[in-house]
Amino acid sequence: MNYKEKYSRLGKSLRSSLIRELLKYASIPNAISFGGGVPDPETFPRRELSQIAAEVIEKEYAYVLQYSTTEGDPELAKQMINLLERLYGFDNLNEDNIMFTTGSQQALELVGKIFLDEDSIAIVEDPFYLGAASAFRMRNAKFIPIPLEDDGMNVDLLEKRLHELDNKGLIPKVKFIYVIPNFHNPAGVTVSFEKRKKIIELAEKYDLLILEDDPYGLLRFEGEHIPSFFKLAERGRVVLLNTFSKILAPGLRIGAVLGDKEIIRKFVLAKQGTDLCSSALTQRIAARYLERYDLVQQIAPTIKLYKSKKDVMMKAFDEYFSKINGIKWINPHGGLFTWVTLPEGFDTMEMFEIAKKKLVFYIPGQAFTPDDRVSPSMRMSFCLPSHEKIIEGVKRLSEVIVEYGKSKGLI
Ligand SMILES: *Cc1c(COP(=O)(O)O)cnc(C)c1O
Repeated sequence: MNYKEKYSRLGKSLRSSLIRELLKYASIPNAISFGGGVPDPETFPRRELSQIAAEVIEKEYAYVLQYSTTEGDPELAKQMINLLERLYGFDNLNEDNIMFTTGSQQALELVGKIFLDEDSIAIVEDPFYLGAASAFRMRNAKFIPIPLEDDGMNVDLLEKRLHELDNKGLIPKVKFIYVIPNFHNPAGVTVSFEKRKKIIELAEKYDLLILEDDPYGLLRFEGEHIPSFFKLAERGRVVLLNTFSKILAPGLRIGAVLGDKEIIRKFVLAKQGTDLCSSALTQRIAARYLERYDLVQQIAPTIKLYKSKKDVMMKAFDEYFSKINGIKWINPHGGLFTWVTLPEGFDTMEMFEIAKKKLVFYIPGQAFTPDDRVSPSMRMSFCLPSHEKIIEGVKRLSEVIVEYGKSKGLI
């Protein structure tokens, strides 16, 4: 059968992501991969979760094995609101301000459905989180990319772009500013307090929504917590996305959307047509987990583990990368990623061919550019390989960079 004629425009436009293709190589024996973007499975609290799972299936079967409401588990909402109040001082939150999703990815997809038409504009960071890119691309919206600096997006350029859009009468088409506030995926950077204030000021000036996607905020290894956009801005200005994927287990598939009651109602309506409800089972497991354990204490060993791996990677960069003229990297204060930028002229996608030979893997920056442009950067995750493999992998990668640089006459 010729399926091609049956596909919608959207169906025809769907393509396999670059990351999916590249990660195939990571499973070759002896390969060292910094490509993966997933947590270390050894950090999952499997004993605690399996005990709670058995208990809730036996005792709360009528709830956990049944359809539930689209909004999600009220017990989890209670726990989550308590946690956010305790950790971040959020106040005046109640169940009307929260909806649970099937991972934050679903929230991003719903954002696309609720806010974006074909002629809509979304302000995004460059590099751009791939999951958000694929969700927003489904709506064929237009992106205005704002380059990331070491302390968040270039706010002067943001201001300039908004001013230009205003001059063209296009501000009504701009639906939101999408930001990852802490330990950016892929760029590793955190938005400074000053830039948070400035972005909020611009959002207020042009009456724009801020979409704050914060999966990593609790995974801080060093430095001081910076208040979220959600806390700093007037209520209603920010829609906050949270997820249990990076702090508990991605297999639970639980994300949360927080915002004004009116907007949450809209999310509920959009979610109904998508999957009726998220799993009551995994939401109740998470609720009982939060009730029984102190999440902050529970993730302390995970943070320690990631920090030690990050430190090993930074030390290896000092040893093997600093001899490469013009190379730069981010020393992240949390999360799973660092971002390495080679001198101008390098193309990390083309360089991947040499990396394949030397059995060391990363994600070329091109995968994260909003416009598929050649990039001298790469995303490297430190959370999965052992200390020894991190050192060996960085050494191999320095050889890859030198070999590629020489072949192109760049070094
Ligand atoms: C991992 C991640 C998510 C969400 O993942 P889910 O598993 O769908 O909750 C969202 N945004 C960013 C930036 C991420 O890195």
